Amino acid sequence: MRITVIGCCGSFAGPDGAASSYLLEHEDASGRTWRILLDLGSGAFGPLQRVLDPADLDAVIISHLHPDHYLDVTGLEVFWAYHERDDLGTLPIHAPAELPDRIAAVLGRNGIIPDGVSCAPFEHHVLADAERFTIGPLSFEPRLVIHPVEAYGFRITDGTSTLVYSGDSDECPALDELAADADLFLCEAGYIEGRDDHFTGVHLTGKRAGECAQRAGVKQLALTHVPAWTDPQIPLAEAREQYTGPITLVRPMDILHVHP
Ligand SMILES: [Zn+2]
Ligand SMILES: [Zn+2]
Repeated sequence: MRITVIGCCGSFAGPDGAASSYLLEHEDASGRTWRILLDLGSGAFGPLQRVLDPADLDAVIISHLHPDHYLDVTGLEVFWAYHERDDLGTLPIHAPAELPDRIAAVLGRNGIIPDGVSCAPFEHHVLADAERFTIGPLSFEPRLVIHPVEAYGFRITDGTSTLVYSGDSDECPALDELAADADLFLCEAGYIEGRDDHFTGVHLTGKRAGECAQRAGVKQLALTHVPAWTDPQIPLAEAREQYTGPITLVRPMDILHVHP
């Protein structure tokens, strides 16, 4: 598996990049490359087009319905519905149940089918805790994590290597279970110790992300979702005090390889 960081800015798009979005690619046994988007937050649909033609996507997964994780699905819908090609079919989207209503509300119309389009561009699949699903050669296990809205983390495997994506979460047993022995743990660190102590059940700090990675015995930790107003060296230093394995701080357009 290979991940291209499309956007990794926490909570809102920043001056140097979009909010959360990660392109996951994996080749199956026949050599076909599967392309799956994990989140499509505010500002991310633009840089996504520098990396691939969105018409080549196989599926989209939305961890939760905060704008920094789903809002640019509205742009993708316009792209898919009105594309000059008429062979795109419907694009599967795995997300919390309210996503179709949110898209319709942002675009200011009642139904989920755009005006003048003969069929819905998206095939909506509702995420549920611990209900696994597969896309091509990849298996996904979603788990409800701790956040102010229904939010999922994911354990993703190709049969030999395992990627875990925290989505947005504070520390919780489900995240520890998801992350167990992961080859790569892509984990948010939206908060820092001290400044954000009055918030609970929202985001991890670098310290809590590092503690989770250490408890779970992950092979590599990649920190993400640092907001524009935070010096990323702070959560990185916090995590380094807790986790003894290799840590990266992701940047837009980074490519991460997941291998055993
Ligand atoms: Zn977020
Ligand atoms: Zn969130």
